[in-house]
Order: sequence, then C-alpha cells, then structure tokens
Amino acid sequence: MQIRCYHCNKPYALRKENVYEALEQLKSERLSHYDIPCPHCRRVNRVSQQELLRSAPEWKRSQKEQKDQ
Ligand SMILES: [Zn+2]
Repeated sequence: MQIRCYHCNKPYALRKENVYEALEQLKSERLSHYDIPCPHCRRVNRVSQQELLRSAPEWKRSQKEQKDQ
C-alpha cells in the first residue's frame, strides 16, 4: 500500500507482508492504529486498521487460525 508521510509529505510503499504483520499486531494488541516509520524522515506515521484492511481485504479470509492463542 502507498502511504504519504504526514511530516515530509513524501509517499512510500508498504509491502503486503508488512501490512499483514501490522494487522496481526493490531489484532493481538487490540490497537486501532499502527505506527509506521517513514523511510525519508524517519518519523512515525499512524495508519488505521481500516486503511490497512483496505489494502489487504483478503487478510481476514486467510487467517483461519490463531497461532498465539
Ligand atoms: Zn517522512
């Protein structure tokens, strides 16, 4: 997914595997936002779970079991 940095305004890409990682962490820690550091200015951008899910709508379907529970 493409993210535009709120601080330096440059776009950067988040790989799908990172989107999955983010979604899994949000779920296990019951957070609604994930902090993704910008590779340009290294400051953190907050991405909502909804935005992550929009770029990985198949994530829920592929998650058949919980490893940690
Ligand atoms: Zn930035």
